[in-house]
Amino acid sequence: MRQIIFLILLSFYCTTNTNAQQKTPKIVFVIADGIPAELIEKSSKPNLSKIITSGFYKRAFVGGIKNTYNQTPTISAPGYNNLITGTWSNKHQVVDNNIKNPNYQYYTIFRFLKEAHPHKTTAVFSTWQDNRTKLVGDGLKETGGFKVDYSFDGYELDTLQFPHDKQANYTHLIDEKVIAKADSTIRTDAPDLSWIYLQHTDDIGHRYGNSRQLEKAIDYLDVQMGKIWEAIQYREKNFKENWLIIITTDHGRDAATGKNHGGQSDAERTTWIIANLKNTNTYFKNNTPAIVDLLPTMARFIPINLPKANEYELDGVPLTGPVSLSNASVEKKEDSLIIRWKAYEKKNPVKIFISKTNLFKIGQMDHYELLANTAVDKERFAFKIDTEKAFLKLVLVGKKNTINTQWFNLASPK
Ligand SMILES: [Zn+2]
Repeated sequence: MRQIIFLILLSFYCTTNTNAQQKTPKIVFVIADGIPAELIEKSSKPNLSKIITSGFYKRAFVGGIKNTYNQTPTISAPGYNNLITGTWSNKHQVVDNNIKNPNYQYYTIFRFLKEAHPHKTTAVFSTWQDNRTKLVGDGLKETGGFKVDYSFDGYELDTLQFPHDKQANYTHLIDEKVIAKADSTIRTDAPDLSWIYLQHTDDIGHRYGNSRQLEKAIDYLDVQMGKIWEAIQYREKNFKENWLIIITTDHGRDAATGKNHGGQSDAERTTWIIANLKNTNTYFKNNTPAIVDLLPTMARFIPINLPKANEYELDGVPLTGPVSLSNASVEKKEDSLIIRWKAYEKKNPVKIFISKTNLFKIGQMDHYELLANTAVDKERFAFKIDTEKAFLKLVLVGKKNTINTQWFNLASPK
Protein backbone atom coordinates (compact mmCIF):
# COMPACT_ATOMS: atom_id res chain seq x y z
CA MET A 1 0.00 0.00 0.00
CA ARG A 2 2.74 2.40 0.99
CA GLN A 3 4.47 1.64 -2.29
CA ILE A 4 1.32 2.42 -4.29
CA ILE A 5 0.90 5.76 -2.53
CA PHE A 6 4.53 6.50 -3.20
CA LEU A 7 4.09 5.71 -6.91
CA ILE A 8 0.97 7.86 -7.14
CA LEU A 9 2.76 10.73 -5.45
CA LEU A 10 5.78 10.24 -7.68
CA SER A 11 3.71 10.28 -10.89
CA PHE A 12 1.80 13.35 -9.65
CA TYR A 13 5.09 15.09 -8.90
CA CYS A 14 6.49 14.19 -12.32
CA THR A 15 3.42 15.44 -14.22
CA THR A 16 3.24 18.78 -12.43
CA ASN A 17 6.97 19.17 -12.72
CA THR A 18 7.03 18.55 -16.49
CA ASN A 19 4.12 20.94 -17.00
CA ALA A 20 6.07 23.67 -15.26
CA GLN A 21 9.21 22.85 -17.21
CA GLN A 22 7.47 22.94 -20.58
CA LYS A 23 6.41 26.55 -20.09
CA THR A 24 8.97 29.04 -21.33
CA PRO A 25 9.64 31.82 -18.81
CA LYS A 26 9.27 35.36 -20.19
CA ILE A 27 9.79 38.68 -18.44
CA VAL A 28 8.62 42.22 -19.08
CA PHE A 29 9.65 44.91 -16.65
CA VAL A 30 8.32 48.45 -16.74
CA ILE A 31 9.73 51.67 -15.30
CA ALA A 32 7.08 54.39 -15.08
CA ASP A 33 9.08 57.49 -14.21
CA GLY A 34 8.88 59.38 -10.92
CA ILE A 35 5.55 58.27 -9.40
CA PRO A 36 5.31 58.73 -5.60
CA ALA A 37 3.95 55.73 -3.69
CA GLU A 38 1.21 57.82 -2.09
CA LEU A 39 -0.17 58.79 -5.48
CA ILE A 40 -0.19 55.33 -6.99
CA GLU A 41 -1.79 54.04 -3.78
CA LYS A 42 -4.68 56.47 -3.89
CA SER A 43 -5.34 56.19 -7.65
CA SER A 44 -8.20 53.91 -8.75
CA LYS A 45 -5.92 51.87 -11.13
CA PRO A 46 -8.41 49.20 -12.31
CA ASN A 47 -5.84 47.54 -14.59
CA LEU A 48 -2.90 47.63 -12.22
CA SER A 49 -5.23 46.15 -9.60
CA LYS A 50 -5.67 43.05 -11.77
CA ILE A 51 -1.90 42.53 -11.74
CA ILE A 52 -1.74 43.21 -7.99
CA THR A 53 -4.46 40.56 -7.47
CA SER A 54 -2.17 38.07 -9.27
CA GLY A 55 0.79 39.05 -7.11
CA PHE A 56 1.57 42.07 -4.97
CA TYR A 57 1.91 45.81 -4.51
CA LYS A 58 4.61 46.84 -2.07
CA ARG A 59 6.51 50.00 -1.18
CA ALA A 60 10.20 49.81 -2.07
CA PHE A 61 13.25 52.06 -2.01
CA VAL A 62 15.93 53.56 -4.21
CA GLY A 63 18.97 55.69 -3.36
CA GLY A 64 21.26 53.00 -1.94
CA ILE A 65 21.79 52.62 1.80
CA LYS A 66 21.54 56.13 3.18
CA ASN A 67 24.76 57.71 4.46
CA THR A 68 26.92 54.79 3.32
CA TYR A 69 29.41 54.21 0.52
CA ASN A 70 26.65 53.16 -1.89
CA GLN A 71 24.20 56.04 -1.37
CA THR A 72 22.87 56.87 -4.84
CA PRO A 73 21.19 60.06 -6.14
CA THR A 74 17.40 59.68 -6.54
CA ILE A 75 17.77 60.68 -10.19
CA SER A 76 16.29 58.86 -13.16
CA ALA A 77 19.24 57.29 -15.03
CA PRO A 78 21.01 56.12 -11.84
CA GLY A 79 17.65 54.57 -10.82
CA TYR A 80 17.17 52.71 -14.09
CA ASN A 81 20.74 51.48 -13.94
CA ASN A 82 20.28 50.28 -10.35
CA LEU A 83 17.50 48.08 -11.67
CA ILE A 84 19.19 46.72 -14.78
CA THR A 85 22.60 46.07 -13.14
CA GLY A 86 21.42 45.07 -9.65
CA THR A 87 24.03 47.41 -8.18
CA TRP A 88 24.13 50.93 -6.70
CA SER A 89 25.86 53.86 -8.36
CA ASN A 90 29.22 53.49 -6.56
CA LYS A 91 29.62 50.45 -8.83
CA HIS A 92 27.82 51.26 -12.09
CA GLN A 93 29.01 54.91 -12.02
CA VAL A 94 25.83 56.42 -13.44
CA VAL A 95 25.29 59.35 -11.09
CA ASP A 96 23.15 61.68 -13.23
CA ASN A 97 21.24 61.79 -16.51
CA ASN A 98 24.32 62.67 -18.56
CA ILE A 99 25.56 59.05 -18.24
CA LYS A 100 29.14 60.14 -18.88
CA ASN A 101 31.10 57.10 -17.89
CA PRO A 102 29.05 53.99 -17.03
CA ASN A 103 31.09 51.04 -15.79
CA TYR A 104 29.97 48.20 -18.03
CA GLN A 105 31.89 45.65 -15.92
CA TYR A 106 28.65 45.50 -13.90
CA TYR A 107 26.59 43.60 -16.46
CA THR A 108 22.96 44.40 -17.17
CA ILE A 109 20.26 41.73 -16.85
CA PHE A 110 20.15 41.75 -20.67
CA ARG A 111 23.79 40.78 -20.96
CA PHE A 112 23.52 38.18 -18.19
CA LEU A 113 20.61 36.60 -20.08
CA LYS A 114 22.40 36.60 -23.42
CA GLU A 115 25.64 35.16 -22.03
CA ALA A 116 23.79 32.36 -20.23
CA HIS A 117 21.23 31.69 -22.99
CA PRO A 118 22.53 32.99 -26.36
CA HIS A 119 19.34 31.93 -28.18
CA LYS A 120 17.05 33.99 -25.92
CA THR A 121 15.91 37.41 -27.11
CA THR A 122 15.79 40.87 -25.54
CA ALA A 123 13.75 44.02 -26.23
CA VAL A 124 13.76 47.68 -25.21
CA PHE A 125 10.67 49.85 -25.74
CA SER A 126 11.57 53.31 -24.48
CA THR A 127 10.54 56.95 -24.50
CA TRP A 128 14.24 57.79 -23.96
CA GLN A 129 16.81 56.37 -26.38
CA ASP A 130 19.74 56.68 -23.96
CA ASN A 131 18.34 53.75 -22.00
CA ARG A 132 19.30 51.39 -24.79
CA THR A 133 22.30 53.15 -26.30
CA LYS A 134 24.03 54.26 -23.07
CA LEU A 135 22.73 52.20 -20.13
CA VAL A 136 22.20 48.83 -21.82
CA GLY A 137 25.11 49.73 -24.11
CA ASP A 138 23.60 48.25 -27.27
CA GLY A 139 26.34 47.29 -29.72
CA LEU A 140 29.19 48.86 -27.75
CA LYS A 141 32.58 47.19 -27.63
CA GLU A 142 32.57 47.84 -23.85
CA THR A 143 29.55 45.51 -23.53
CA GLY A 144 31.23 42.82 -25.60
CA GLY A 145 29.18 43.78 -28.66
CA PHE A 146 25.94 42.88 -26.90
CA LYS A 147 22.95 43.48 -29.23
CA VAL A 148 19.33 44.15 -28.26
CA ASP A 149 17.11 42.03 -30.54
CA TYR A 150 14.02 44.26 -30.69
CA SER A 151 14.16 47.99 -30.04
CA PHE A 152 11.65 50.78 -30.42
CA ASP A 153 12.87 54.15 -29.19
CA GLY A 154 14.28 57.51 -30.26
CA TYR A 155 10.83 59.04 -30.92
CA GLU A 156 11.77 62.01 -28.73
CA LEU A 157 14.35 62.91 -31.39
CA ASP A 158 11.64 63.06 -34.08
CA THR A 159 10.35 66.59 -33.46
CA LEU A 160 8.31 66.60 -36.67
CA GLN A 161 6.10 63.70 -35.64
CA PHE A 162 6.30 64.58 -31.92
CA PRO A 163 6.76 68.36 -31.59
CA HIS A 164 7.84 69.19 -28.04
CA ASP A 165 5.12 71.18 -26.28
CA LYS A 166 5.43 72.97 -22.93
CA GLN A 167 2.79 70.80 -21.26
CA ALA A 168 4.76 67.69 -22.27
CA ASN A 169 1.78 66.09 -23.96
CA TYR A 170 4.29 64.84 -26.53
CA THR A 171 5.78 62.41 -24.01
CA HIS A 172 2.29 61.00 -23.46
CA LEU A 173 2.01 60.46 -27.23
CA ILE A 174 5.45 58.82 -27.31
CA ASP A 175 4.56 56.60 -24.33
CA GLU A 176 1.46 55.53 -26.29
CA LYS A 177 3.60 54.69 -29.32
CA VAL A 178 6.05 52.75 -27.14
CA ILE A 179 3.17 50.79 -25.59
CA ALA A 180 1.69 50.01 -29.03
CA LYS A 181 5.07 48.62 -30.14
CA ALA A 182 5.52 46.62 -26.94
CA ASP A 183 1.95 45.26 -27.19
CA SER A 184 2.36 44.06 -30.80
CA THR A 185 5.92 42.74 -30.32
CA ILE A 186 4.95 40.77 -27.21
CA ARG A 187 1.95 39.28 -29.02
CA THR A 188 3.85 38.30 -32.19
CA ASP A 189 7.47 37.72 -31.11
CA ALA A 190 7.33 37.35 -27.33
CA PRO A 191 10.89 38.46 -26.49
CA ASP A 192 12.26 36.58 -23.47
CA LEU A 193 13.21 39.79 -21.64
CA SER A 194 11.61 43.18 -22.34
CA TRP A 195 12.08 46.61 -20.79
CA ILE A 196 9.34 49.19 -21.22
CA TYR A 197 10.24 52.72 -20.15
CA LEU A 198 7.56 55.44 -19.88
CA GLN A 199 8.43 59.07 -19.18
CA HIS A 200 5.25 61.13 -19.14
CA THR A 201 4.52 60.86 -15.39
CA ASP A 202 7.88 62.44 -14.50
CA ASP A 203 7.39 65.35 -16.92
CA ILE A 204 4.02 66.07 -15.34
CA GLY A 205 5.47 65.71 -11.84
CA HIS A 206 8.16 68.31 -12.58
CA ARG A 207 5.56 70.73 -13.97
CA TYR A 208 2.64 70.30 -11.56
CA GLY A 209 3.92 68.31 -8.58
CA ASN A 210 1.50 66.04 -6.69
CA SER A 211 -1.55 67.23 -8.59
CA ARG A 212 -4.70 66.35 -10.48
CA GLN A 213 -2.51 66.40 -13.62
CA LEU A 214 -0.18 63.75 -12.20
CA GLU A 215 -3.22 61.66 -11.21
CA LYS A 216 -4.39 61.85 -14.82
CA ALA A 217 -0.94 60.74 -16.03
CA ILE A 218 -1.20 57.74 -13.67
CA ASP A 219 -4.60 56.96 -15.23
CA TYR A 220 -2.87 56.85 -18.64
CA LEU A 221 -0.28 54.49 -17.20
CA ASP A 222 -3.03 52.25 -15.84
CA VAL A 223 -4.64 51.91 -19.28
CA GLN A 224 -1.23 51.27 -20.86
CA MET A 225 -0.46 48.52 -18.34
CA GLY A 226 -3.88 47.01 -19.05
CA LYS A 227 -2.79 46.58 -22.68
CA ILE A 228 0.47 44.87 -21.74
CA TRP A 229 -1.34 42.63 -19.21
CA GLU A 230 -3.81 41.63 -21.98
CA ALA A 231 -0.92 40.85 -24.33
CA ILE A 232 0.61 38.60 -21.67
CA GLN A 233 -2.73 36.86 -21.07
CA TYR A 234 -2.98 36.28 -24.82
CA ARG A 235 0.49 34.69 -24.88
CA GLU A 236 -0.19 32.48 -21.88
CA LYS A 237 -3.50 31.29 -23.33
CA ASN A 238 -2.08 30.44 -26.74
CA PHE A 239 1.50 29.42 -26.04
CA LYS A 240 3.28 27.39 -23.39
CA GLU A 241 4.68 30.45 -21.65
CA ASN A 242 4.90 31.71 -18.09
CA TRP A 243 5.09 35.52 -17.92
CA LEU A 244 6.49 37.67 -15.15
CA ILE A 245 5.52 41.35 -15.24
CA ILE A 246 7.20 43.84 -12.90
CA ILE A 247 6.14 47.49 -12.78
CA THR A 248 8.08 50.00 -10.72
CA THR A 249 9.33 53.59 -10.59
CA ASP A 250 12.81 55.07 -10.39
CA HIS A 251 12.34 57.58 -7.51
CA GLY A 252 9.73 59.42 -5.48
CA ARG A 253 9.38 63.20 -5.28
CA ASP A 254 9.97 65.81 -2.57
CA ALA A 255 7.28 65.90 0.12
CA ALA A 256 6.66 69.67 0.02
CA THR A 257 5.81 70.17 -3.68
CA GLY A 258 6.17 66.83 -5.44
CA LYS A 259 8.04 68.64 -8.19
CA ASN A 260 11.63 67.70 -7.40
CA HIS A 261 13.83 64.70 -6.73
CA GLY A 262 17.50 63.79 -6.46
CA GLY A 263 17.96 64.08 -2.69
CA GLN A 264 17.79 61.56 0.14
CA SER A 265 14.50 62.48 1.85
CA ASP A 266 12.11 59.61 2.60
CA ALA A 267 9.66 60.96 0.02
CA GLU A 268 12.33 60.88 -2.71
CA ARG A 269 13.71 57.46 -1.68
CA THR A 270 10.33 55.77 -1.37
CA THR A 271 9.14 53.88 -4.44
CA TRP A 272 6.90 50.86 -5.08
CA ILE A 273 6.84 47.58 -6.95
CA ILE A 274 3.93 45.75 -8.55
CA ALA A 275 4.49 42.21 -9.86
CA ASN A 276 2.43 39.12 -10.64
CA LEU A 277 4.54 37.03 -8.27
CA LYS A 278 2.78 35.03 -5.58
CA ASN A 279 5.67 32.98 -4.21
CA THR A 280 7.56 35.79 -2.49
CA ASN A 281 9.99 34.82 0.30
CA THR A 282 10.61 35.82 3.93
CA TYR A 283 13.16 38.45 2.89
CA PHE A 284 10.40 40.16 0.87
CA LYS A 285 7.86 39.81 3.68
CA ASN A 286 10.16 41.16 6.42
CA ASN A 287 11.84 44.03 4.54
CA THR A 288 11.20 46.97 2.28
CA PRO A 289 12.55 45.67 -1.01
CA ALA A 290 15.12 47.69 -2.98
CA ILE A 291 15.21 48.38 -6.71
CA VAL A 292 18.44 46.33 -6.84
CA ASP A 293 16.49 43.24 -5.68
CA LEU A 294 14.77 43.00 -9.06
CA LEU A 295 17.80 41.72 -11.02
CA PRO A 296 18.38 38.65 -8.82
CA THR A 297 14.60 38.07 -8.80
CA MET A 298 14.48 38.06 -12.61
CA ALA A 299 17.62 35.92 -12.78
CA ARG A 300 15.89 33.28 -10.64
CA PHE A 301 12.74 33.39 -12.74
CA ILE A 302 14.46 32.50 -16.06
CA PRO A 303 16.73 31.05 -14.47
CA ILE A 304 20.09 32.62 -15.31
CA ASN A 305 23.24 31.13 -13.85
CA LEU A 306 25.29 34.18 -12.81
CA PRO A 307 29.09 34.01 -12.97
CA LYS A 308 30.44 33.94 -9.41
CA ALA A 309 32.57 37.11 -9.71
CA ASN A 310 29.50 39.03 -10.91
CA GLU A 311 27.25 37.52 -8.26
CA TYR A 312 29.73 38.69 -5.59
CA GLU A 313 29.05 42.29 -6.68
CA LEU A 314 25.23 42.24 -6.74
CA ASP A 315 23.65 44.53 -4.15
CA GLY A 316 20.20 42.90 -4.19
CA VAL A 317 18.50 39.83 -2.76
CA PRO A 318 15.95 37.75 -4.71
CA LEU A 319 12.31 38.34 -3.70
CA THR A 320 11.30 34.76 -4.48
CA GLY A 321 12.74 31.36 -3.61
CA PRO A 322 14.84 30.44 -0.61
CA VAL A 323 17.21 33.02 0.89
CA SER A 324 19.86 32.64 3.57
CA LEU A 325 20.78 36.21 4.44
CA SER A 326 20.51 39.93 3.62
CA ASN A 327 21.51 43.42 4.81
CA ALA A 328 25.28 43.13 5.23
CA SER A 329 26.96 45.98 7.04
CA VAL A 330 30.33 46.55 8.63
CA GLU A 331 31.57 48.89 11.36
CA LYS A 332 34.87 49.45 13.11
CA LYS A 333 35.19 49.23 16.87
CA GLU A 334 38.65 49.86 18.25
CA ASP A 335 40.93 47.48 16.35
CA SER A 336 38.15 45.19 15.12
CA LEU A 337 35.67 45.15 12.29
CA ILE A 338 32.19 43.86 13.05
CA ILE A 339 30.20 42.40 10.17
CA ARG A 340 26.44 42.12 10.66
CA TRP A 341 23.64 40.62 8.57
CA LYS A 342 20.08 39.30 8.83
CA ALA A 343 19.56 35.53 8.63
CA TYR A 344 16.52 33.65 7.29
CA GLU A 345 17.56 30.13 8.25
CA LYS A 346 19.11 28.33 11.21
CA LYS A 347 22.43 26.51 11.51
CA ASN A 348 23.44 26.57 7.85
CA PRO A 349 26.97 27.81 7.28
CA VAL A 350 27.91 31.18 5.86
CA LYS A 351 31.32 31.66 4.32
CA ILE A 352 32.81 35.12 4.64
CA PHE A 353 35.33 36.06 1.97
CA ILE A 354 37.55 39.09 2.00
CA SER A 355 39.39 40.93 -0.77
CA LYS A 356 41.81 43.79 -0.27
CA THR A 357 41.49 44.83 -3.90
CA ASN A 358 38.68 45.99 -6.14
CA LEU A 359 40.00 44.81 -9.48
CA PHE A 360 36.55 43.71 -10.63
CA LYS A 361 35.71 47.30 -11.55
CA ILE A 362 38.51 47.34 -14.12
CA GLY A 363 37.65 43.93 -15.52
CA GLN A 364 40.14 41.85 -13.54
CA MET A 365 39.73 39.14 -10.92
CA ASP A 366 39.88 39.90 -7.22
CA HIS A 367 41.66 37.46 -4.97
CA TYR A 368 39.24 36.49 -2.22
CA GLU A 369 40.46 34.80 0.94
CA LEU A 370 38.22 32.82 3.26
CA LEU A 371 37.98 34.88 6.43
CA ALA A 372 35.48 32.73 8.32
CA ASN A 373 33.07 29.85 8.08
CA THR A 374 30.38 30.45 10.67
CA ALA A 375 26.69 29.78 11.34
CA VAL A 376 24.37 32.07 9.42
CA ASP A 377 21.99 32.61 12.36
CA LYS A 378 24.78 34.21 14.43
CA GLU A 379 24.19 37.31 12.30
CA ARG A 380 27.54 38.74 13.41
CA PHE A 381 31.25 38.17 12.97
CA ALA A 382 34.09 40.24 14.42
CA PHE A 383 37.76 40.17 13.49
CA LYS A 384 40.91 42.14 14.22
CA ILE A 385 42.04 44.43 11.48
CA ASP A 386 45.30 46.04 10.47
CA THR A 387 44.25 49.66 10.83
CA GLU A 388 46.56 50.74 8.02
CA LYS A 389 44.37 48.94 5.49
CA ALA A 390 42.37 51.40 3.45
CA PHE A 391 39.82 49.21 1.73
CA LEU A 392 38.12 45.81 2.04
CA LYS A 393 35.45 44.00 0.06
CA LEU A 394 33.47 41.47 2.08
CA VAL A 395 31.33 38.76 0.50
CA LEU A 396 29.00 36.56 2.56
CA VAL A 397 28.13 33.35 0.75
CA GLY A 398 25.08 31.64 2.23
CA LYS A 399 23.58 28.36 1.04
CA LYS A 400 20.84 30.10 -0.91
CA ASN A 401 22.18 33.54 -1.77
CA THR A 402 25.21 35.82 -1.56
CA ILE A 403 25.49 39.37 -0.22
CA ASN A 404 28.35 41.84 0.05
CA THR A 405 29.53 45.05 1.63
CA GLN A 406 32.60 47.27 1.54
CA TRP A 407 34.67 48.97 4.18
CA PHE A 408 36.69 52.12 3.73
CA ASN A 409 39.12 53.40 6.31
CA LEU A 410 38.69 57.06 5.49
CA ALA A 411 41.34 58.06 8.03
CA SER A 412 44.06 55.95 6.45
CA PRO A 413 46.49 57.26 3.84
CA LYS A 414 45.38 56.42 0.28
ZN1 LIG B 1 12.92 59.75 -13.10
